[in-house]
Amino acid sequence: MKIKYYFDYNATTPVDPRVVEEMTPFFSEIFHNPSSFYRLAGEARYRIEQCRVKVAELINGRPDEIYFTSGGTESDTMAIMGVANKGNHIITSSIEHPAVLHTCKYLEKKGCRITYLPVDHNGLLDPDELKKNITSETILVSIMHANNEIGTIQPIKELVEIAHQNGVLFHTDAVQAAGKILLDVKDLDIDLLSLSSHKIYGPKGVGVLYKKRSVDIEPLIFGGDHEKGLRAGTENVPGIVGLGKAAELVLAEREIEEKRLRPLRDKLQRELMERIPDILINGGRAPRLYNTLNISIRFIEGESILALLDQDQIALSSGSACSSKSPDPSHVLLAIGMSHEDAHGSLRISLGKFNTDDDIDVLIDILPRVAEKLRKISPFWPDR
Ligand code: PLP
Repeated sequence: MKIKYYFDYNATTPVDPRVVEEMTPFFSEIFHNPSSFYRLAGEARYRIEQCRVKVAELINGRPDEIYFTSGGTESDTMAIMGVANKGNHIITSSIEHPAVLHTCKYLEKKGCRITYLPVDHNGLLDPDELKKNITSETILVSIMHANNEIGTIQPIKELVEIAHQNGVLFHTDAVQAAGKILLDVKDLDIDLLSLSSHKIYGPKGVGVLYKKRSVDIEPLIFGGDHEKGLRAGTENVPGIVGLGKAAELVLAEREIEEKRLRPLRDKLQRELMERIPDILINGGRAPRLYNTLNISIRFIEGESILALLDQDQIALSSGSACSSKSPDPSHVLLAIGMSHEDAHGSLRISLGKFNTDDDIDVLIDILPRVAEKLRKISPFWPDR
């Protein structure tokens, strides 16, 4: 069954048909190993290098600073583990994706000191907190560009400057920012940056680690000489070709999409606030991704809302898709000071390029009705 109304673009995006078209020949026509010596292998090799150029353009980096990986998780892990031998203290934030948090937890068990910086009620980090926590032992600061659950955008340029003034490397997880915010690694002076293809209308299982030329890191995966010896394994050629095309498209279409989607997200927020009493907007007062709306409908469970919406072929998320199997409330919502009860009633609505005005009207119509229905049977709803 096809979902009719999809509002979960921060979890993943459908592959753009133009990307599928570009990838298709690389499954069974030009399937050759890029390391082989015949002509079609050369074609595969050539296309990988073309895609390196396209991804570099998306973030204003150089093609030789782009390393293809299996996705955002690997890129985050590779960045952090790759510098872990340089010293004994890493600074990150309390609202990072599990790819960063769990890598840090692993290093903590091995004896590395990790500082998890707090955020304010909107998910924003205070640059002074970073300043205060850097010591002579600090080797890396890893702070996400934009949050996957509430969309908060961090003041990355300022944070990088603080790290560099203290001689510390800076990594950013830009998986959610890519394609939505103009990324410029030169202007930001970023050392390491992670991207994922399936958040920008490319295929799953492929991503990028950007590594500034002057920065040295150790490999995470050992084997052949691929990716200049930093990431071994025969290249995922169709995936890389798809990522390259997706990067080209989001770069060309980003501004048009923002102009179209921001007013739709704002209308959705306005209408839901009007139609549903006792609703909280999470992270709404900080710079925020234009496609993201995180709300808490107090006194009811996010999962119950999702189940009823599913009957109307509406798909959205009750927090981070990666952790939605867990009954624990989202670590991001707890970090912004929300109570466990309110965090349980939270929904993440994330829009994307195939959403229409009509989709938004459907959600504006159905969600308040679902909330009312559930509140009538909720033992916690005071107006029952
Ligand atoms: N970082 C962020 C901010 C994400 O939202 C995600 C995916 O949800 C990832 C990393 C992991 O990326 P991937 O699914 O490509 O491993």
